[in-house]
Amino acid sequence: MLSRKEKRDIQILIRFVHIFCREKHGEDSKKPFSSPFEEVASLIEREVQLCESCSELLAYGVRKRFRCPHNPKPMCKKCETQCYSQDYKQRVREVMRVSGPYLIKRGRLDLLYHYLV
Ligand SMILES: [Zn+2]
Repeated sequence: MLSRKEKRDIQILIRFVHIFCREKHGEDSKKPFSSPFEEVASLIEREVQLCESCSELLAYGVRKRFRCPHNPKPMCKKCETQCYSQDYKQRVREVMRVSGPYLIKRGRLDLLYHYLV
């Protein structure tokens, strides 16, 4: 069972990757994102169309969040575990950089608080 906090984190991650893919990979061929975790699949409110690389990145992030050994989860950058590989960390940073301003513009600063990077 996922806690409220975990659900929220996963939803935020989905939103970030979704915006990023829409802005950066507009023309690429996309498929609706689906997760092998039933609980995660049920969190996806609307269809989230992603290209292959974003899909893979999101699946990775979701998996990591599922397996986070800390409760409560610390901010990732202050965490001693550093479970993201260097490569994925870089990619998520890029996603945050692109998607962050869109969320700010829409007044969703609350979504930025506490998440990754
Ligand atoms: Zn993409």
